Amino acid sequence: MPTYDYDLFVIGGGSGGVRAARLSAGLGKRVAVAEEYRYGGTCVIRGCVPKKLYVYASQFPDHFADAAGYGWTVPEASFDWPTLVANKDKEIARLSGLYESGVANAGGETFHSRASLVDAHTIRIENEDRTVTAEHILIATGGRPNPHVALPGHEHCIFSNEAFDLAELPKSIVIAGGGYIAVEFANIFHGLGVETTLIYRGMEILQRFDMDLRHRLHEEMAAKGIRILCHTIFEQIDKRADGRLAATLNSGETIVADQVMLAIGRIPNTENLGLEAAGVKTGVRDEIIVDSLSRTNLDNVWAIGDVTDRVQLTPVAIHEAMCFVETAFKDNPTEPDHDCIATAVFSQPEIGTVGLSEDEAVKRFESLEIYSASFRPMRHTLSGRQEKMLTKLVVDAETRRVLGAHILGPDAGEMAQLLGIALKARLTKDDFDRTMAVHPTASEELVTMYRPSYLVRNGSRVD
Ligand SMILES: Cc1cc2nc3c(=O)[nH]c(=O)nc-3n(C[C@H](O)[C@H](O)[C@H](O)COP(=O)(O)OP(=O)(O)OC[C@H]3O[C@@H](n4cnc5c(N)ncnc54)[C@H](O)[C@@H]3O)c2cc1C
Repeated sequence: MPTYDYDLFVIGGGSGGVRAARLSAGLGKRVAVAEEYRYGGTCVIRGCVPKKLYVYASQFPDHFADAAGYGWTVPEASFDWPTLVANKDKEIARLSGLYESGVANAGGETFHSRASLVDAHTIRIENEDRTVTAEHILIATGGRPNPHVALPGHEHCIFSNEAFDLAELPKSIVIAGGGYIAVEFANIFHGLGVETTLIYRGMEILQRFDMDLRHRLHEEMAAKGIRILCHTIFEQIDKRADGRLAATLNSGETIVADQVMLAIGRIPNTENLGLEAAGVKTGVRDEIIVDSLSRTNLDNVWAIGDVTDRVQLTPVAIHEAMCFVETAFKDNPTEPDHDCIATAVFSQPEIGTVGLSEDEAVKRFESLEIYSASFRPMRHTLSGRQEKMLTKLVVDAETRRVLGAHILGPDAGEMAQLLGIALKARLTKDDFDRTMAVHPTASEELVTMYRPSYLVRNGSRVD
């Protein structure tokens, strides 16, 4: 048996890599992780965590406005962007430290360096200009924003990475993209008082979510003052003499703004990773190809998280890491379960969703019952805000199983987490009906929609 320096070498100290390293070290394995930027990865440093903090920041103007109906007089508020950025930095530094110390405390070794493969068992630690060997290698290098190099003037644009740390808050911004990152940032910037335009090449924002939520969110965002242009792409971006940017659209319109942000998807970090040298196969989107156990085409090389381009979410990367540890080190082959993943879009109003959209369910089930309710949340009766909440259940009429649950409104993400348990347990509409409501809440609507709003038979709606 050859002897290696480590039982496991993890490349990438983000959500997936750190969890795998920590758990494996906890089993007594000799583990090392290399991180080229900051421990914590995308989620902690430039993803979920700073994003959610900025969402909170951007909601205060609405809270201040809503307070009047409850008798409060709020003096004119002012906002200081550098304070938000600095406080965010403090929090992510704290979390980053915890990620790194978590590995060290479990007995693992951490490197602050880029790493790449030399062959199937050898890793180059680039900052130290040396190689080490490992029995198993786990690639958890995540992804990065698509730079859209085909766009003339793309070099003038920012991406989500830069958006968190702009030297000053722009007065205006144009964001391209229709995914959750584009939508969330449009709401963040708008909430902070930035004149915001969102352009998207598709017919409606948030592809793959339920169409009712997509339309309703679009309407609510537009009503707040976010300009949304669908079927629209950038033709070119020019920098003007005054430093502002001119974005020319395919419609012929030119929008002048302080910043232009591209959020048109993310690409796996597989460049210059030595994959070819080691013989690790990648796919058409540059993702690392893995089997159902997260193993690459090489027996001892594994990959998890965004770099495999399966489902790009933090809990998924962490779950894949935990399955990897079971498989590689506990003699318990465990396939990650990607079915029925609850998820949220931290737009304003928020989306929480789990399971199939109506359009997806129609493709797979002959007969559906759709339960849907639209109502003004109690909080807004006194605030005067017109925003309505939407709840929707997609039910298989034959088995009564709830296939999809979709919510638009305050705390929808929190609700989706709990609905995720119900749908994962394959509960039926009858189980929902049997459940006593919690009153007065918005979520009670989910267990009190007794009569279907409409039926769908073989793809056609029957009212
Ligand atoms: C703006 C934004 C908002 C998001 N919001 C959410 C959300 O609300 N909820 C959610 O679930 N997910 C969200 N995500 C997605 C989530 O952040 C990712 O799915 C998750 O971080 C993936 O984890 P990972 O371990 O695969 O990779 P990452 O967390 O990206 O970690 C990969 C790490 O590898 C390092 N690395 C790369 N190459 C090398 C190398 N050669 N050597 C050493 N180190 C290397 C990188 O620096 C990085 O730290 C968001 C993402 C973005 C961009």
